[in-house]
Amino acid sequence: MKIAVAKGDGIGPEIMDAVLKIFEANKVPLEYELVEMGKWVFDKGFSNGMTPEAQHTIENLGILFKGPMETPKGKGVKSVNVTARKTWNTYANKRVFQTLHGVDTVFSKAGIPIDITVVRENIEDTYGGIEHMLTHDVALSRRFITRPGSLQVIRYAFEMAKKKGARRITCGHKANIMKITDGLFLECFYEVAKEYPELKSDDVIVDDLCMKLVTRPDSFDVVVLTNLQGDIVSDLCAGLVGGLGFAPSANIGDHICIFEAVHGTAPDIAGKNIANPTALLLSGIAMLRHLGLMENAAIIENALLYTLEQGDRTGDFGDKNKQALNTTQFSEAIINNFGKKPEQGAKELLPNMPVTQTVFKLAENPMLVSKEMENEKIVGVDLFIESDAQPEIIAKKCQRHAGVKFNLINISNRGTQVWPTGSIYTNLVNQYNVRFESLDGSPLHQQDVLGLYVSLSGDFKICSSELLNMWGDKKAYSLAQGQ
Ligand code: NAD
Repeated sequence: MKIAVAKGDGIGPEIMDAVLKIFEANKVPLEYELVEMGKWVFDKGFSNGMTPEAQHTIENLGILFKGPMETPKGKGVKSVNVTARKTWNTYANKRVFQTLHGVDTVFSKAGIPIDITVVRENIEDTYGGIEHMLTHDVALSRRFITRPGSLQVIRYAFEMAKKKGARRITCGHKANIMKITDGLFLECFYEVAKEYPELKSDDVIVDDLCMKLVTRPDSFDVVVLTNLQGDIVSDLCAGLVGGLGFAPSANIGDHICIFEAVHGTAPDIAGKNIANPTALLLSGIAMLRHLGLMENAAIIENALLYTLEQGDRTGDFGDKNKQALNTTQFSEAIINNFGKKPEQGAKELLPNMPVTQTVFKLAENPMLVSKEMENEKIVGVDLFIESDAQPEIIAKKCQRHAGVKFNLINISNRGTQVWPTGSIYTNLVNQYNVRFESLDGSPLHQQDVLGLYVSLSGDFKICSSELLNMWGDKKAYSLAQGQ
């Protein structure tokens, strides 16, 4: 089977060469097609950081094994890493954090074993990067959490947890504050949980989760989160086991999967042959397992764990009294340890399974749609206006535009209600949300809302707007703090 390989920038080529040498020495039955991605591709003028040929190859082969890549600063280009994950809908980011004997941490010293798998939603949330300055003082980021997007990643997490024989699967969230977005993610979690009664499923608010991960890391098994919270929590977990140098990462999609190290290009040590290839090797081992190459994966992982146990190390970790190995020497030490088993955490030698072809040819873009709501009606609108006037004055002006269809319900500033009631102690910025609802709760048409928009724009600059929808008895919008 052939896979696409992008060596990356900085230390990327050094650590990728080291890993491929280990694969070759273990006779891993894979062929590699090198693709052009990364900084120098940006420099050649390809704004997404990859050549069209690279994109074509990756889409045909279905697996990309990649080194870290640099995103040029100040050129207005987006990270090739993020672009790749989003373009190919690798909706689940899976990272396994386990105690590595020989990599000292406070937990390993205290004899507390860690084996946590974090599954992070990889496409949605604030990572769409859809941001606007609404006034010179006020920036807005849109946070998308969708039902099909959440179901995709949560289903993957449950399926993976079941295969791995997990004890527990936990949803981390902030649904106590973001009741609609994180509320939807949590609702999807428990919807899917019903299909896996054999798994103990629970949820923890993300700040509490962070504290518990640090105080009782051994009580967690699989944790699933939205994108930004997952990003932070997964680096926290990397810290528990010794840092990013020991954290593999797999980006899983239905058609294309990307395996990569999560650390960056380490420009400070690039070209010196001293970088630590462990994270990329662990990502490569995860890729071998994904492809059914269980035996190769176990032999290589056992050799890596044995090497670490012996105290063999690159300069960035381990016992400083022992001479550090360079990248080449470290990978050779691993190769020399093929067939050896570590005292702790040895992997079972399962036979290789037939390699499954992961690529499907798609005729058209899949549209993710679920649950068509009945009884949907528009009952109002939030208009976000720019003004440096006090709430009372704004309210008076707004009421003049309400006409015969609308009622001015409230005015809020940064989500806190400041009219009709509020506090003089609430600091204000020059952007308000004025909320209008239909006079008697009767349904509105978009034309009614546009009429109000046009009228209000005579007095204020309208920066943004959102319809207020009702689905049956359920409000499809949040209330302002204090409303
Ligand atoms: P970095 O991870 O490159 O470096 C942080 C520190 O960790 C440095 O001191 C570095 O020497 C060390 N380090 C990182 N990996 C190491 C390894 N394998 N062995 C030994 N030491 C290692 O983070 P940064 O400096 O913030 O970012 C540098 C560049 O990497 C930026 O251009 C950024 O865009 C890019 N980046 C890419 C990825 C990716 O491709 N997935 C991720 C993060 C950052």
